[in-house]
Amino acid sequence: KVVVRFAPSPTGYLHVGGARTAIFNWLYARKTGGKFILRIEDTDTERSVEDAIGEILDGLRWMGLDWDQGPDFQSRHIGEHREAARKLLASGRAYKCFCSKEDLDRKRETARQNKETFRYDGTCRQLSPDEIAEKEASGLPFTVRLKVPDGSDGVRFTDAVYGTIEKKYADIEDFVIVRSNGQPLYMLSNAVDDIRDGVTHIIRGQDGLANTPKQILIYDALGAPLPVFAHMSLALDPNRAKISKRKHGEKVAVRYYREQGFLPWALVNFLVLLGWSTPESREIFSKEELISAFSFEGISRNNPVFDLRKDDPRFFTDPRALSINAHYLRTLPVEEIAPFVKEQLENAGIWDTAFEGEEREWFLKTTDLIRSRFQVTTDFVTLGRAYFSDDYPIDPKALRKNVLKHRELAEWLPVLANGITEMEEYGQASLEAICQAVPEESGMKPGVLMNGVRTILTGQAVGPGFFEILEILGPQTVADRLARAVT
Ligand code: GLU
Repeated sequence: KVVVRFAPSPTGYLHVGGARTAIFNWLYARKTGGKFILRIEDTDTERSVEDAIGEILDGLRWMGLDWDQGPDFQSRHIGEHREAARKLLASGRAYKCFCSKEDLDRKRETARQNKETFRYDGTCRQLSPDEIAEKEASGLPFTVRLKVPDGSDGVRFTDAVYGTIEKKYADIEDFVIVRSNGQPLYMLSNAVDDIRDGVTHIIRGQDGLANTPKQILIYDALGAPLPVFAHMSLALDPNRAKISKRKHGEKVAVRYYREQGFLPWALVNFLVLLGWSTPESREIFSKEELISAFSFEGISRNNPVFDLRKDDPRFFTDPRALSINAHYLRTLPVEEIAPFVKEQLENAGIWDTAFEGEEREWFLKTTDLIRSRFQVTTDFVTLGRAYFSDDYPIDPKALRKNVLKHRELAEWLPVLANGITEMEEYGQASLEAICQAVPEESGMKPGVLMNGVRTILTGQAVGPGFFEILEILGPQTVADRLARAVT
């Protein structure tokens, strides 16, 4: 059975690169009927923060990436990591290193001057049991180093994305697995946790590739079977640097795209396409479709460039992001997008609890009516604001062109407003009749009246059908807004 894990270090919010890794793991688990574990790698305690953990869980839940085990915390397993180091010492696959920091710094400096790469020279590997006992007795601090095999061979493995990779033993130093303060190193903890959890496929960012040979040596030394490694290309910024919270701030956070009006599945669908494709370059996948289409073969080794538009930093430069989001926004059952529209209306302070109560039908109908031109859920509070609040701006260009240029409107809008107030039955037929009668009487073109009314009622020059707008807003609101426009 397949076991995969997403193992973020909680150093900040969940960013799009981490989200991609999580998505690939989740997809693979769901495709194979395997298990998806969430493990928070919080051993680097100084940088780990509670808030970051909350953000990660929130982001994963929002994207609909459910996990089957966890969240587990690496820090709870430090005892096991130390135990593994003891086992390695006992079996002779690791040794205690008493070299002081000063000794090592000196050797490092000499190597630098000779323009050589510094690699630990194995001084303490040679110590006799007596020498070790003596140093221990004198209370010298020590680190624990893994004994890298000798010889001209190397570590060889086949990465599911990058193919065969080989690293000569001679190019790997005897690396530290436990610090002199007893703290296990990440390299060890990560491998020990994966072994304990029975992880069969390690799917992670390409930046993990450099650690893989060392981790394979740990697996070997502990006598554990090797998992499959699949490294994902990294999303890069336009300068081809790895995207990071530090350099790119909140604009790489999953939360940011949520706030900018992306639907969760649309973001998942888009992030998958950054670095994975089907032979026919298909773009839209439902959850079920993506799970069945996903495979390691489709993963690209090229690092996709991730950037935000200069003209509108709310959005990715890759136009597929918006088109995919618009697709889902316009085609999902309206009940499914309603919670996300609600979130935006709440953020904007124009949510009315009645939209969930007696006005729910109206809310869904309105959402459905206006969404056909929208691309992101924030459009509901900007372009669509007039449907939910009386306090909405009027697009200045539309105002000039459709209202201010036509002085006769000032005279005839009150007539229309009155007519509407006095209507016995408010509906398409009576509205059509009055919108024909007013131009006939005034000599105004029907288009002028309708464009003016639309602009005043919605703040926009374009939108749903004219009569649909009037019907959805209702007689009271329409009459009030028309009357108010003239004063
Ligand atoms: N905690 C590591 C990170 O956030 C994960 C490495 C791995 O998946 O093995 O980069």
